[in-house]
Amino acid sequence: MPEDVNALHPGLWPTTAALDDHGVLTIGGVPVSEIAERHGTPAYVFDEVDFRARCAAFREAFHDFDVYYAGKAFLSRTTARIAEEAGLSLDVCTEGELAYAQAVGFPAERILMHGNNKSEAELAAALEYGVGRIVVDSFEELDRLHALVPHFPGSRPRVLLRVTVGVRADTHAYIATAHEDQKFGFSLVGGEAETAIRRVLDDGLLELRGLHSHIGSQILGTAGFEAAAKRLLELRARIAREGAELPELDLGGGFGIAYTPADEPTGPKEMADILRTVVARECAALGVGVPRLAIEPGRAIAGPSGVTLYRVGTVKHRQGIRTFVAVDGGMSDNVRTALYDASYSVRLAGRVSDAAPVLVRVVGKHCDAGDVVVRDDHLPGDVRPGDLLAVPGTGAYCRSLAHNYNQIPRPPVVAVADGRTREIVRRETIADLMGLDVG
Ligand SMILES: *Cc1c(COP(=O)(O)O)cnc(C)c1O
Repeated sequence: MPEDVNALHPGLWPTTAALDDHGVLTIGGVPVSEIAERHGTPAYVFDEVDFRARCAAFREAFHDFDVYYAGKAFLSRTTARIAEEAGLSLDVCTEGELAYAQAVGFPAERILMHGNNKSEAELAAALEYGVGRIVVDSFEELDRLHALVPHFPGSRPRVLLRVTVGVRADTHAYIATAHEDQKFGFSLVGGEAETAIRRVLDDGLLELRGLHSHIGSQILGTAGFEAAAKRLLELRARIAREGAELPELDLGGGFGIAYTPADEPTGPKEMADILRTVVARECAALGVGVPRLAIEPGRAIAGPSGVTLYRVGTVKHRQGIRTFVAVDGGMSDNVRTALYDASYSVRLAGRVSDAAPVLVRVVGKHCDAGDVVVRDDHLPGDVRPGDLLAVPGTGAYCRSLAHNYNQIPRPPVVAVADGRTREIVRRETIADLMGLDVG
Protein backbone atom coordinates (compact mmCIF):
# COMPACT_ATOMS: atom_id res chain seq x y z
CA MET A 1 0.00 0.00 0.00
CA PRO A 2 1.49 3.37 -0.95
CA GLU A 3 2.22 5.82 1.85
CA ASP A 4 0.59 8.80 0.25
CA VAL A 5 -1.21 8.60 -3.05
CA ASN A 6 -1.34 12.39 -3.16
CA ALA A 7 2.44 12.87 -3.19
CA LEU A 8 4.39 13.48 -6.40
CA HIS A 9 7.04 10.80 -6.52
CA PRO A 10 10.24 12.46 -7.70
CA GLY A 11 11.67 10.83 -10.78
CA LEU A 12 8.31 9.96 -12.31
CA TRP A 13 7.07 13.44 -13.17
CA PRO A 14 8.41 16.08 -15.55
CA THR A 15 10.59 18.82 -14.10
CA THR A 16 7.90 21.49 -13.87
CA ALA A 17 5.21 19.26 -12.33
CA ALA A 18 3.95 20.60 -9.02
CA LEU A 19 0.85 20.68 -6.85
CA ASP A 20 -1.02 23.96 -6.45
CA ASP A 21 -2.63 25.18 -3.24
CA HIS A 22 -5.67 23.01 -3.89
CA GLY A 23 -3.58 19.91 -4.56
CA VAL A 24 -4.26 20.10 -8.30
CA LEU A 25 -1.41 18.89 -10.49
CA THR A 26 0.17 21.65 -12.53
CA ILE A 27 2.62 21.21 -15.40
CA GLY A 28 4.48 24.11 -16.97
CA GLY A 29 2.65 26.32 -14.48
CA VAL A 30 -0.80 25.31 -15.80
CA PRO A 31 -3.29 23.34 -13.68
CA VAL A 32 -4.20 20.15 -15.52
CA SER A 33 -7.88 20.98 -14.99
CA GLU A 34 -7.33 24.00 -17.21
CA ILE A 35 -5.43 21.99 -19.81
CA ALA A 36 -8.32 19.53 -19.91
CA GLU A 37 -10.87 22.30 -20.21
CA ARG A 38 -9.04 24.05 -23.04
CA HIS A 39 -7.86 21.05 -25.03
CA GLY A 40 -10.12 18.19 -23.98
CA THR A 41 -9.17 14.69 -22.88
CA PRO A 42 -7.41 12.44 -23.46
CA ALA A 43 -4.45 14.70 -24.11
CA TYR A 44 -0.72 14.23 -24.11
CA VAL A 45 0.84 17.05 -22.09
CA PHE A 46 4.36 17.89 -23.21
CA ASP A 47 6.60 19.69 -20.70
CA GLU A 48 8.75 21.73 -23.04
CA VAL A 49 11.14 22.83 -20.28
CA ASP A 50 11.69 19.22 -19.27
CA PHE A 51 12.36 18.08 -22.84
CA ARG A 52 14.82 20.92 -23.40
CA ALA A 53 16.58 20.16 -20.12
CA ARG A 54 16.99 16.50 -21.01
CA CYS A 55 18.41 17.35 -24.44
CA ALA A 56 20.87 19.66 -22.67
CA ALA A 57 21.73 17.08 -20.01
CA PHE A 58 22.59 14.49 -22.67
CA ARG A 59 24.50 17.05 -24.72
CA GLU A 60 26.54 17.98 -21.65
CA ALA A 61 27.10 14.52 -20.17
CA PHE A 62 28.08 13.13 -23.58
CA HIS A 63 29.92 16.27 -24.70
CA ASP A 64 32.58 14.21 -26.49
CA PHE A 65 30.04 11.95 -28.25
CA ASP A 66 27.65 12.51 -31.13
CA VAL A 67 24.21 12.42 -29.51
CA TYR A 68 21.40 11.51 -31.89
CA TYR A 69 17.88 12.08 -30.56
CA ALA A 70 15.97 8.97 -31.68
CA GLY A 71 13.04 10.63 -33.40
CA LYS A 72 10.82 7.58 -33.34
CA ALA A 73 10.28 8.08 -29.58
CA PHE A 74 8.33 11.27 -30.35
CA LEU A 75 8.91 13.27 -33.47
CA SER A 76 7.19 16.54 -34.19
CA ARG A 77 8.47 19.75 -35.69
CA THR A 78 8.78 21.15 -32.18
CA THR A 79 10.85 18.26 -30.81
CA ALA A 80 13.06 18.23 -33.92
CA ARG A 81 13.62 21.97 -33.55
CA ILE A 82 14.40 21.80 -29.83
CA ALA A 83 16.82 18.90 -30.34
CA GLU A 84 18.52 20.87 -33.09
CA GLU A 85 18.80 23.99 -30.94
CA ALA A 86 20.25 21.91 -28.10
CA GLY A 87 23.03 20.77 -30.41
CA LEU A 88 21.81 17.21 -30.76
CA SER A 89 21.83 15.20 -33.95
CA LEU A 90 18.78 13.30 -35.16
CA ASP A 91 18.16 9.62 -35.74
CA VAL A 92 15.43 8.76 -38.27
CA CYS A 93 14.45 5.42 -39.73
CA THR A 94 11.93 6.15 -42.48
CA GLU A 95 11.15 8.62 -45.20
CA GLY A 96 8.33 9.95 -43.03
CA GLU A 97 10.64 10.68 -40.12
CA LEU A 98 13.13 12.25 -42.51
CA ALA A 99 10.35 14.54 -43.77
CA TYR A 100 9.96 16.00 -40.27
CA ALA A 101 13.68 16.70 -40.14
CA GLN A 102 13.52 18.39 -43.53
CA ALA A 103 10.47 20.40 -42.50
CA VAL A 104 12.52 22.19 -39.83
CA GLY A 105 15.67 22.35 -41.95
CA PHE A 106 17.54 19.99 -39.64
CA PRO A 107 21.17 20.06 -40.81
CA ALA A 108 21.61 17.02 -43.05
CA GLU A 109 25.09 16.18 -41.83
CA ARG A 110 23.67 15.71 -38.31
CA ILE A 111 21.08 13.14 -39.42
CA LEU A 112 21.53 9.40 -39.24
CA MET A 113 19.15 6.99 -40.95
CA HIS A 114 18.80 3.41 -39.76
CA GLY A 115 16.17 0.71 -40.26
CA ASN A 116 16.25 -2.95 -41.23
CA ASN A 117 14.41 -2.69 -44.53
CA LYS A 118 14.83 0.74 -46.02
CA SER A 119 13.30 0.98 -49.45
CA GLU A 120 15.09 2.31 -52.49
CA ALA A 121 12.90 5.42 -52.23
CA GLU A 122 13.96 5.93 -48.61
CA LEU A 123 17.63 5.54 -49.38
CA ALA A 124 17.24 7.91 -52.32
CA ALA A 125 15.51 10.47 -50.09
CA ALA A 126 18.38 10.16 -47.61
CA LEU A 127 20.98 10.68 -50.36
CA GLU A 128 19.01 13.52 -51.86
CA TYR A 129 18.95 15.36 -48.53
CA GLY A 130 22.55 14.35 -47.91
CA VAL A 131 22.14 12.73 -44.48
CA GLY A 132 25.38 12.39 -42.54
CA ARG A 133 25.22 8.66 -41.77
CA ILE A 134 23.32 5.67 -43.12
CA VAL A 135 23.27 2.62 -40.89
CA VAL A 136 23.23 -0.34 -43.23
CA ASP A 137 21.46 -3.41 -41.92
CA SER A 138 21.68 -6.06 -44.68
CA PHE A 139 23.57 -7.16 -47.79
CA GLU A 140 20.57 -6.30 -49.95
CA GLU A 141 20.69 -2.77 -48.64
CA LEU A 142 24.39 -2.52 -49.45
CA ASP A 143 23.51 -3.46 -53.03
CA ARG A 144 20.65 -0.97 -53.13
CA LEU A 145 22.80 1.83 -51.81
CA HIS A 146 25.68 1.03 -54.13
CA ALA A 147 23.34 1.08 -57.13
CA LEU A 148 21.85 4.44 -56.11
CA VAL A 149 25.06 6.39 -55.58
CA PRO A 150 25.76 7.10 -59.29
CA HIS A 151 22.39 8.89 -59.43
CA PHE A 152 23.65 11.41 -56.86
CA PRO A 153 26.81 12.81 -58.42
CA GLY A 154 29.41 13.88 -55.90
CA SER A 155 27.90 11.90 -53.05
CA ARG A 156 29.86 9.28 -51.13
CA PRO A 157 27.54 8.01 -48.42
CA ARG A 158 29.07 7.62 -45.00
CA VAL A 159 28.04 4.25 -43.71
CA LEU A 160 27.85 2.51 -40.36
CA LEU A 161 27.17 -1.22 -40.22
CA ARG A 162 24.65 -2.50 -37.72
CA VAL A 163 26.11 -5.45 -35.90
CA THR A 164 24.10 -8.07 -34.02
CA VAL A 165 26.40 -8.37 -31.05
CA GLY A 166 24.65 -11.34 -29.42
CA VAL A 167 23.79 -9.54 -26.18
CA ARG A 168 20.35 -10.27 -24.78
CA ALA A 169 19.25 -7.04 -23.17
CA ASP A 170 17.35 -7.30 -19.91
CA THR A 171 14.07 -5.95 -21.24
CA HIS A 172 10.88 -7.13 -22.96
CA ALA A 173 11.49 -9.56 -25.86
CA TYR A 174 9.95 -7.19 -28.42
CA ILE A 175 12.46 -4.47 -27.57
CA ALA A 176 15.56 -6.64 -27.15
CA THR A 177 17.35 -6.20 -30.44
CA ALA A 178 20.83 -7.69 -30.34
CA HIS A 179 20.54 -11.42 -29.64
CA GLU A 180 20.85 -13.69 -32.65
CA ASP A 181 17.18 -14.66 -32.97
CA GLN A 182 15.79 -11.28 -34.11
CA LYS A 183 15.70 -9.35 -37.35
CA PHE A 184 18.25 -6.53 -36.95
CA GLY A 185 21.83 -6.29 -38.15
CA PHE A 186 24.70 -8.38 -39.44
CA SER A 187 25.46 -11.36 -37.24
CA LEU A 188 28.74 -11.27 -35.39
CA VAL A 189 29.05 -14.98 -34.60
CA GLY A 190 27.99 -16.02 -38.08
CA GLY A 191 30.76 -13.90 -39.59
CA GLU A 192 28.31 -11.77 -41.59
CA ALA A 193 29.50 -8.60 -39.90
CA GLU A 194 33.07 -9.19 -40.96
CA THR A 195 32.02 -10.02 -44.53
CA ALA A 196 29.94 -6.84 -44.67
CA ILE A 197 32.83 -4.74 -43.36
CA ARG A 198 35.15 -6.08 -46.08
CA ARG A 199 32.54 -5.44 -48.72
CA VAL A 200 32.09 -1.80 -47.76
CA LEU A 201 35.83 -1.27 -47.39
CA ASP A 202 36.24 -2.54 -50.95
CA ASP A 203 33.33 -0.50 -52.25
CA GLY A 204 34.71 2.62 -53.85
CA LEU A 205 31.31 4.35 -53.72
CA LEU A 206 30.69 4.05 -49.98
CA GLU A 207 32.73 5.24 -47.04
CA LEU A 208 32.75 2.94 -44.02
CA ARG A 209 32.85 5.14 -40.91
CA GLY A 210 32.27 2.51 -38.27
CA LEU A 211 30.08 -0.01 -36.50
CA HIS A 212 26.67 0.42 -34.92
CA SER A 213 24.79 -1.50 -32.28
CA HIS A 214 21.45 -1.00 -30.56
CA ILE A 215 20.84 -3.69 -27.97
CA GLY A 216 17.28 -2.79 -27.09
CA SER A 217 15.14 -0.36 -25.19
CA GLN A 218 14.14 0.51 -21.60
CA ILE A 219 17.42 -0.89 -20.27
CA LEU A 220 18.05 0.26 -16.71
CA GLY A 221 21.58 -1.04 -16.08
CA THR A 222 24.85 -0.60 -17.94
CA ALA A 223 26.09 -4.21 -18.30
CA GLY A 224 24.46 -4.76 -21.71
CA PHE A 225 26.04 -1.61 -23.16
CA GLU A 226 29.44 -2.58 -21.79
CA ALA A 227 29.19 -6.10 -23.25
CA ALA A 228 28.10 -4.72 -26.63
CA ALA A 229 30.92 -2.16 -26.67
CA LYS A 230 33.51 -4.85 -25.91
CA ARG A 231 32.30 -7.13 -28.71
CA LEU A 232 32.20 -4.29 -31.22
CA LEU A 233 35.67 -3.13 -30.23
CA GLU A 234 37.10 -6.64 -30.59
CA LEU A 235 35.67 -6.86 -34.08
CA ARG A 236 36.97 -3.39 -34.86
CA ALA A 237 40.44 -4.36 -33.60
CA ARG A 238 40.50 -7.42 -35.88
CA ILE A 239 39.79 -5.16 -38.85
CA ALA A 240 42.31 -2.58 -37.62
CA ARG A 241 45.03 -5.23 -37.64
CA GLU A 242 44.38 -5.58 -41.36
CA GLY A 243 44.97 -1.86 -41.77
CA ALA A 244 41.57 -0.21 -41.46
CA GLU A 245 40.95 1.45 -38.09
CA LEU A 246 37.31 2.52 -38.25
CA PRO A 247 36.96 6.02 -36.79
CA GLU A 248 33.45 5.78 -35.28
CA LEU A 249 31.44 3.57 -32.95
CA ASP A 250 27.70 4.05 -32.37
CA LEU A 251 26.35 2.33 -29.26
CA GLY A 252 22.69 3.09 -30.02
CA GLY A 253 19.97 4.06 -27.58
CA GLY A 254 17.88 2.20 -25.07
CA PHE A 255 18.53 4.06 -21.84
CA GLY A 256 15.63 3.35 -19.52
CA ILE A 257 13.43 5.71 -17.52
CA ALA A 258 11.29 5.38 -14.39
CA TYR A 259 7.69 4.40 -15.04
CA THR A 260 7.02 3.40 -11.44
CA PRO A 261 8.80 4.16 -8.16
CA ALA A 262 10.49 0.73 -8.46
CA ASP A 263 12.49 1.73 -11.58
CA GLU A 264 15.96 3.15 -10.98
CA PRO A 265 17.45 4.31 -14.28
CA THR A 266 21.10 5.18 -14.81
CA GLY A 267 21.43 8.91 -15.44
CA PRO A 268 23.21 10.36 -18.49
CA LYS A 269 26.26 11.49 -16.51
CA GLU A 270 26.91 8.06 -15.00
CA MET A 271 26.15 6.33 -18.30
CA ALA A 272 28.58 8.59 -20.15
CA ASP A 273 31.33 7.99 -17.61
CA ILE A 274 30.91 4.24 -17.77
CA LEU A 275 30.79 4.02 -21.56
CA ARG A 276 33.75 6.34 -21.97
CA THR A 277 35.79 4.37 -19.43
CA VAL A 278 34.92 0.95 -20.83
CA VAL A 279 35.76 2.01 -24.38
CA ALA A 280 39.06 3.62 -23.37
CA ARG A 281 40.08 0.58 -21.32
CA GLU A 282 39.18 -1.89 -24.10
CA CYS A 283 40.96 0.12 -26.77
CA ALA A 284 44.10 0.31 -24.63
CA ALA A 285 43.98 -3.45 -24.05
CA LEU A 286 43.47 -4.09 -27.77
CA GLY A 287 46.20 -1.65 -28.73
CA VAL A 288 43.95 0.45 -30.99
CA GLY A 289 42.94 4.09 -31.04
CA VAL A 290 39.74 5.27 -29.35
CA PRO A 291 36.91 5.84 -31.86
CA ARG A 292 34.53 8.80 -31.89
CA LEU A 293 31.50 7.54 -29.98
CA ALA A 294 27.82 8.09 -30.65
CA ILE A 295 24.61 7.30 -28.78
CA GLU A 296 20.96 7.49 -29.81
CA PRO A 297 18.69 8.17 -26.82
CA GLY A 298 14.97 8.47 -27.54
CA ARG A 299 12.91 7.43 -24.54
CA ALA A 300 15.35 8.91 -22.00
CA ILE A 301 14.86 12.34 -23.57
CA ALA A 302 11.19 12.34 -24.53
CA GLY A 303 9.64 9.88 -22.08
CA PRO A 304 9.67 11.82 -18.82
CA SER A 305 8.51 15.03 -20.50
CA GLY A 306 5.08 13.58 -21.28
CA VAL A 307 2.02 13.05 -19.10
CA THR A 308 -1.29 11.74 -20.43
CA LEU A 309 -4.47 13.28 -19.04
CA TYR A 310 -7.63 11.22 -19.02
CA ARG A 311 -11.15 11.73 -17.74
CA VAL A 312 -12.74 8.90 -15.76
CA GLY A 313 -16.00 7.59 -17.23
CA THR A 314 -16.90 4.51 -15.18
CA VAL A 315 -15.70 2.87 -11.98
CA LYS A 316 -16.35 -0.80 -11.14
CA HIS A 317 -15.47 -2.10 -7.70
CA ARG A 318 -14.92 -5.83 -8.14
CA GLN A 319 -15.26 -7.12 -4.62
CA GLY A 320 -12.11 -8.79 -3.33
CA ILE A 321 -10.25 -8.25 -6.62
CA ARG A 322 -9.69 -4.63 -7.56
CA THR A 323 -11.33 -1.49 -8.86
CA PHE A 324 -11.53 -0.98 -12.63
CA VAL A 325 -11.35 2.66 -13.56
CA ALA A 326 -12.26 3.26 -17.22
CA VAL A 327 -10.93 6.38 -18.93
CA ASP A 328 -11.75 8.09 -22.22
CA GLY A 329 -8.65 6.76 -24.05
CA GLY A 330 -6.79 3.49 -23.78
CA MET A 331 -4.67 1.20 -25.91
CA SER A 332 -5.01 3.52 -28.91
CA ASP A 333 -3.09 6.31 -27.14
CA ASN A 334 -0.85 4.01 -25.11
CA VAL A 335 -0.32 0.58 -26.56
CA ARG A 336 2.80 -0.11 -24.50
CA THR A 337 0.98 -1.85 -21.65
CA ALA A 338 -0.73 -4.25 -24.05
CA LEU A 339 2.27 -4.67 -26.34
CA TYR A 340 5.20 -4.84 -23.94
CA ASP A 341 3.49 -5.57 -20.63
CA ALA A 342 4.77 -2.15 -19.57
CA SER A 343 4.13 -0.81 -16.08
CA TYR A 344 2.82 2.71 -15.47
CA SER A 345 1.73 4.81 -12.54
CA VAL A 346 -1.37 6.96 -12.16
CA ARG A 347 -2.57 9.72 -9.88
CA LEU A 348 -5.71 11.63 -9.28
CA ALA A 349 -4.84 14.95 -10.86
CA GLY A 350 -7.68 17.43 -10.52
CA ARG A 351 -8.42 17.32 -6.77
CA VAL A 352 -7.07 15.94 -3.53
CA SER A 353 -8.77 13.21 -1.62
CA ASP A 354 -8.19 11.73 1.79
CA ALA A 355 -10.15 8.58 0.99
CA ALA A 356 -8.22 5.37 1.69
CA PRO A 357 -6.30 4.14 -1.37
CA VAL A 358 -7.62 1.19 -3.33
CA LEU A 359 -5.88 -1.09 -5.82
CA VAL A 360 -6.94 -0.05 -9.30
CA ARG A 361 -6.48 -1.02 -12.90
CA VAL A 362 -6.89 1.85 -15.31
CA VAL A 363 -8.52 0.58 -18.48
CA GLY A 364 -9.59 2.21 -21.71
CA LYS A 365 -12.74 2.26 -23.81
CA HIS A 366 -11.67 -0.20 -26.51
CA CYS A 367 -13.35 -3.51 -27.22
CA ASP A 368 -10.47 -5.61 -25.93
CA ALA A 369 -9.84 -7.01 -22.45
CA GLY A 370 -6.16 -6.28 -23.01
CA ASP A 371 -7.02 -2.59 -23.21
CA VAL A 372 -5.15 -1.65 -20.06
CA VAL A 373 -3.30 1.62 -19.46
CA VAL A 374 -2.06 1.10 -15.91
CA ARG A 375 -2.04 -2.50 -14.74
CA ASP A 376 -1.63 -1.96 -10.98
CA ASP A 377 -1.52 1.17 -8.91
CA HIS A 378 -3.48 2.84 -6.14
CA LEU A 379 -5.95 5.70 -6.28
CA PRO A 380 -8.09 7.24 -3.57
CA GLY A 381 -11.10 4.97 -2.99
CA ASP A 382 -13.56 7.74 -3.88
CA VAL A 383 -12.29 7.97 -7.49
CA ARG A 384 -15.39 8.71 -9.56
CA PRO A 385 -16.65 9.63 -13.03
CA GLY A 386 -15.48 13.09 -14.05
CA ASP A 387 -12.17 12.83 -12.21
CA LEU A 388 -9.02 13.69 -14.07
CA LEU A 389 -6.22 11.12 -14.00
CA ALA A 390 -2.61 11.71 -15.00
CA VAL A 391 -0.23 9.01 -16.20
CA PRO A 392 3.43 10.09 -16.23
CA GLY A 393 6.23 8.86 -18.47
CA THR A 394 4.16 8.89 -21.67
CA GLY A 395 6.29 11.28 -23.72
CA ALA A 396 7.95 8.48 -25.70
CA TYR A 397 6.35 5.68 -27.71
CA CYS A 398 2.79 6.73 -26.90
CA ARG A 399 1.86 9.36 -29.50
CA SER A 400 4.31 7.73 -31.90
CA LEU A 401 2.68 4.31 -31.48
CA ALA A 402 -0.88 5.66 -31.30
CA HIS A 403 -3.46 4.12 -33.58
CA ASN A 404 -7.14 4.34 -34.41
CA TYR A 405 -8.57 1.06 -33.18
CA ASN A 406 -12.34 1.42 -32.86
CA GLN A 407 -12.04 4.57 -35.00
CA ILE A 408 -10.96 6.67 -32.05
CA PRO A 409 -9.22 9.88 -33.13
CA ARG A 410 -5.72 10.29 -31.71
CA PRO A 411 -5.26 12.83 -28.90
CA PRO A 412 -3.42 16.13 -29.28
CA VAL A 413 0.00 16.90 -27.89
CA VAL A 414 -0.26 20.03 -25.79
CA ALA A 415 2.99 21.78 -25.00
CA VAL A 416 3.03 23.65 -21.71
CA ALA A 417 5.57 26.22 -20.56
CA ASP A 418 5.53 29.39 -18.46
CA GLY A 419 1.84 29.15 -17.67
CA ARG A 420 0.79 28.78 -21.30
CA THR A 421 -0.53 25.91 -23.42
CA ARG A 422 -0.07 25.37 -27.12
CA GLU A 423 -1.07 22.40 -29.26
CA ILE A 424 1.93 21.13 -31.19
CA VAL A 425 0.01 18.20 -32.63
CA ARG A 426 -3.72 18.79 -32.91
CA ARG A 427 -6.41 16.31 -31.99
CA GLU A 428 -7.52 14.10 -34.82
CA THR A 429 -11.17 14.36 -35.75
CA ILE A 430 -13.65 11.83 -37.03
CA ALA A 431 -13.57 13.87 -40.26
CA ASP A 432 -9.82 13.12 -40.49
CA LEU A 433 -10.57 9.43 -40.22
CA MET A 434 -13.46 9.56 -42.70
CA GLY A 435 -11.25 11.50 -45.08
CA LEU A 436 -8.99 8.49 -45.48
CA ASP A 437 -11.85 6.26 -46.55
CA VAL A 438 -12.18 6.90 -50.26
CA GLY A 439 -14.02 3.70 -51.23
C1 LIG B 1 14.65 2.69 -31.11
C2 LIG B 1 16.04 2.97 -31.39
C3 LIG B 1 16.71 3.92 -30.64
C4 LIG B 1 16.11 4.65 -29.46
O1 LIG B 1 15.80 3.79 -28.43
P1 LIG B 1 15.36 4.39 -27.00
O2 LIG B 1 15.04 3.19 -26.20
O3 LIG B 1 14.18 5.24 -27.25
O4 LIG B 1 16.50 5.15 -26.48
C5 LIG B 1 18.02 4.22 -30.96
N1 LIG B 1 18.63 3.60 -31.99
C6 LIG B 1 18.02 2.66 -32.74
C7 LIG B 1 18.74 2.02 -33.85
C8 LIG B 1 16.70 2.30 -32.47
O5 LIG B 1 16.09 1.38 -33.20
